Amino acid sequence: MRHQSAGRWGGIIILGVVWWFNPGAAGAWARHDLITPPILEGLDWLDQYEQIPVTPYRYRDDTLNPKFKVVYANPEAESAFPGGDRFVWYDLDSGRKYGFRGAPLGGVTSARRILTEYSNEPDWGMDKGLSVSWSQGFMAGSQGFRHMYYPAFTFHLPYPFFPQGISPERAAHFLDYARQAYLQHDLYWCFRFLARALHYVQDIGQPYHTYQTSIRFIVLSRPIAGTTQATKNYHFAYESFVAYRLAAEAAGKAPLTPHYYSLALTDGVRRPVDSAADLIKSVARENSCHVGKTFKSSVRFLGEKFHSAQEVRLLQKEAERLLRVKSPARKEFDQQVRRALQLTGSAAGSFLEYARQTLLEQPPQVPPK
Ligand SMILES: [Zn+2]
Repeated sequence: MRHQSAGRWGGIIILGVVWWFNPGAAGAWARHDLITPPILEGLDWLDQYEQIPVTPYRYRDDTLNPKFKVVYANPEAESAFPGGDRFVWYDLDSGRKYGFRGAPLGGVTSARRILTEYSNEPDWGMDKGLSVSWSQGFMAGSQGFRHMYYPAFTFHLPYPFFPQGISPERAAHFLDYARQAYLQHDLYWCFRFLARALHYVQDIGQPYHTYQTSIRFIVLSRPIAGTTQATKNYHFAYESFVAYRLAAEAAGKAPLTPHYYSLALTDGVRRPVDSAADLIKSVARENSCHVGKTFKSSVRFLGEKFHSAQEVRLLQKEAERLLRVKSPARKEFDQQVRRALQLTGSAAGSFLEYARQTLLEQPPQVPPK
């Protein structure tokens, strides 16, 4: 037993070092615009915000990448997704904003649309390419450092057992901006900032965002680069499959169980919320307790081919085949995904309720200048 456990810790330490040398693109749920609508379904109070004028951005936020540009409408919304055999939703760096139409300045939109479309916005480059912490190299760069959170008393490098990542702070940051906008009667930006905050809350429902890595992904022949690549392969294949399945469900094209994943998003119980940051911390802790089963079921269902030192993406053809597979591995994988989506829905719904009670139900005022 002792020998085994020493090997295990050794493996984990190697993997931590691996992460340091190989910061890659940070993931997220691949399509927040598909995750958000089922969560909003039960929130009837949003119905009163049907006609919101689109207003210009008049805020200052020095925490964003200076190259990040505020976008109101997507000129490419109608164009087809890039074709070929690339699984497009995997690629957060493509610059394409899948599922995003937006509304032009001076136009009118609704709270539901703002929350849905802009729950993707923090993945559009605002958190990339920054130097925010020495330890961001262990979390795939500044975006990963801001979108993930490893809870206290879990093992990760460089600071094992200490909390790592600042997604709790990022959610709180944008909730503060939402309050600022609300006080100025700027409902458009109030909801857009809420959508940004919602992104960080949702991201923490993705199990791969709450645990650094696993000995399951070690590639013995190339322990450093290979293991890092295998971990990324599973991380992105997991997100891609979930997005693919949610897209199929939204289009009414999912076989076998038509709304199996999207319904999980509406199942979550309301959690007590004292602050956005504490909510994220408690969700991360809960998720990290189940992450081993997620890793295991990813390998069994998605297949061994991702356990590779080479980049292996989940291609559309393969995702299509997996949609129709019936097997014990499928059942186990679905159970883990639904658990994560339930947690995501519960956290996001609770966050929005908290925002309603602490912010939107308060009378707006113009702050003294
Ligand atoms: Zn993200």
